Amino acid sequence: MFLNKDSESKIDDVTKSQTVKCYTYTFAHPDNPAYKFILIDTPGLSDTNGVKQDDKNIKEITDAAISAGSLSAIVIVANGTEARVTPSIKNTLVRLSNNLPDDLLGNILLILTKCTKSSASFSECAFSKEIAKPKKIFYMDNQFFCTDPEVWKDDEDERFNVEHHWKLSINTINRILETITDLSSTSTKAFENMREYRNKIKAEIDKVTQDITNIQKVQDKLEASQKALQKSGDQKNSYANYTKTETITLNKIVKASYHSTVCSRHMDNIICHDNCGLEMKTSSGTDYFTACYCMGSNNICRFCNCGPTSHYHAMVKLIKETKTLNKVLEDMKAQYDSANQQYQKYSTDANNYQSTLANLQATANAKYEYIHKLCKDLSKICSRFNFVDELHANLDNMRQDARVIQNINIRRNAEAEIQRLEKLASDLSSKRGSMY
Ligand SMILES: [Zn+2]
Ligand SMILES: [Zn+2]
Ligand SMILES: [Zn+2]
Repeated sequence: MFLNKDSESKIDDVTKSQTVKCYTYTFAHPDNPAYKFILIDTPGLSDTNGVKQDDKNIKEITDAAISAGSLSAIVIVANGTEARVTPSIKNTLVRLSNNLPDDLLGNILLILTKCTKSSASFSECAFSKEIAKPKKIFYMDNQFFCTDPEVWKDDEDERFNVEHHWKLSINTINRILETITDLSSTSTKAFENMREYRNKIKAEIDKVTQDITNIQKVQDKLEASQKALQKSGDQKNSYANYTKTETITLNKIVKASYHSTVCSRHMDNIICHDNCGLEMKTSSGTDYFTACYCMGSNNICRFCNCGPTSHYHAMVKLIKETKTLNKVLEDMKAQYDSANQQYQKYSTDANNYQSTLANLQATANAKYEYIHKLCKDLSKICSRFNFVDELHANLDNMRQDARVIQNINIRRNAEAEIQRLEKLASDLSSKRGSMY
């Protein structure tokens, strides 16, 4: 297993030509042929090909470990001059710690390349903290192997150096082989169990990210219908005054304590002479009312235009009565009705989306719960397994990858995927307390 295979790609001088499959080499111990070693060379992690490649490589490594049945040692090779824990190294450490079962943590050997014990600047502390304390650490200054023999073959000092380092490296390799011989072979069954859990988690995550997409879609629709609801509500309010109140004055004849002259043809709304001074005469049909103040010059009543014979006296008077009427403005009411209809529709829509959203959220929550359960079970095999950390490490890398994508559509898709995973990570961490 290689952490950061920079050196290798430099030697090959072919970009991205690192191992993408596991290769198995079998060889016998040079001094003791009874010992047979099977070396599985695996793809490197934290290479420049991004998160997806790392995922594939982890899968390759896991599959190789499972088909090996048991392993004596997991040898991790890292650049010993890498002092800084860069996001990429951090990502690799998280990935390794999330994928190495507890059962095999006692079989870890660390080889730091390009350095000697005194010159190594690799953070062994970070390695121990994130993964496990390696059983043993070896140092290998292999830089001379990468130099051009033309440079040193005729130069005595350089030749001496190269030969010296060659011997040191051979010694180191012998010590590594000895250590491996001493380690007890451990079953890789745990890798298989982890793979099962991971596959289940992955399947669940695929489902839940689909839920998240659906939730976002419904949320958008809900927002749109709420806006429309607000708008139609405002419209409805602006047409709400479709009734107009009018005050009208009505004349009304009521009983009085005195007599007035009225006309038998107009008695319901006209008083021809209020409080007439003539002596009371309650019958009509005579010329008696010629003398009444209401009569004009040619014996035509100035108020009702009738002659004297239709007039008589009654104990009545005229009062004015004011009435308020509600008048409906029909066109405005039509506008109101239409706005109201819209309002009702959007209100129903908003309620429907709201309950759809609640259902989807509940479905997603059930999946989150299940993912938590799977993570919990998985952490029984790999106690350092921290799924949210892994998601965050993924996200950091995906963000870096997305930044350099030129094509706008592809970048948008990548950003959308990042957003979904961010949502997932935050949902998972908010729902889990502080367990993993
Ligand atoms: Zn009169
Ligand atoms: Zn009259
Ligand atoms: Zn009259």
